[in-house]
Amino acid sequence: MNDLIQLKTVQSRAFRLIRPQVIEETIIEHFVRPHEVIIEPTLASICHADLRYYTGNRRPEALVKKLPMALIHEGIGVIIDSTHPEFSPGQRVVIVPNIPGCSLSKENIEEWCPACKKGIGENYCLRGRFLGSGTDGIAQSRLVMPTKCVIPIPEQVPDEIAVLTELCSVSYQALQHVEKQLQTARVAVFGDGPVGYLTAAMIHHLYRVSQDHLRVFGAISEKLDQFQFAERSLVQDYDFNNGEKVDIAVECTGGRFSSNAINQAIQILNPGGFLILMGVSEEWVPINTRDILEKGITIVGSSRSSSYDYPPVLEAMKDPEYQKTLRRIIPEQHLPIRTVEEFDNALSDAAKHPNWKKSILKFIW
Ligand SMILES: [Zn+2]
Ligand SMILES: [Zn+2]
Repeated sequence: MNDLIQLKTVQSRAFRLIRPQVIEETIIEHFVRPHEVIIEPTLASICHADLRYYTGNRRPEALVKKLPMALIHEGIGVIIDSTHPEFSPGQRVVIVPNIPGCSLSKENIEEWCPACKKGIGENYCLRGRFLGSGTDGIAQSRLVMPTKCVIPIPEQVPDEIAVLTELCSVSYQALQHVEKQLQTARVAVFGDGPVGYLTAAMIHHLYRVSQDHLRVFGAISEKLDQFQFAERSLVQDYDFNNGEKVDIAVECTGGRFSSNAINQAIQILNPGGFLILMGVSEEWVPINTRDILEKGITIVGSSRSSSYDYPPVLEAMKDPEYQKTLRRIIPEQHLPIRTVEEFDNALSDAAKHPNWKKSILKFIW
């Protein structure tokens, strides 16, 4: 307790979700510990996960446990105050919402959680925290973050591209499992939503898989048209029995379509192929295990990302061609957020009018 008294504090204007569809402004007081810096969030995007809290589309127990809470986990900001030489006031940074528990603790490795002890990735840490999911997120004027979760934005990467880093890092984390195979593989991506788009874009621009080796499957032709760097097929028209075979399939559909997508992927995978699962579904999903066995298919699940997934993504984002592809998912207008009412309106609009493009919030504190 004694060293807490010595700590600097900072006040933050937070837009907290109190209960579904009710957001209130409150002042939170944060302690600033020696390994932390103070950030002012500037640009952010709304995720489906935020909307599930906002609309109350989560189990009531989860809501009771996690609210009140400031939402938003996809965002960037500027450094306001830092005692660390690698960060100076005014510097633009990406915020890593996944704050590991074990590796930031002073405990030695024997005391770490099973996931961290095994080294499978900090995104699976059982003691970690995640902004906007049980911990106050980016919708506040001052965020206090461990330096480990603050990534400088290269000069060549503009804000509206950098704001996509968290989303892209989730694809990067998933694709790392097949990094070696991607050098020569034929790849199929299932899903024409934002996750499918950003994953396919990364396969092409970061892993350099050429258009003739990358096919995207979707259900809506207007969305599919956006994937100009890949071959494109509508699932309802495609002949999965006689179509070309692939070595890697990535499922980015989630929800009630993931069963179809997974089984179509199994159908077109070559023996020894890889199936990466990225779509979130609440229901159990029946899958064709016979063909998984017969083909010796490896299925890999992946969730979230860690701070070490960010620098390679930001490095790739310097590429003007990659930026051009990423811009297609960003609307021309950013929504200015000056008040709690404007924040509330932005969330309720995003919930009512689902859009293929991301909703980008520009915080003016
Ligand atoms: Zn998200
Ligand atoms: Zn851990």
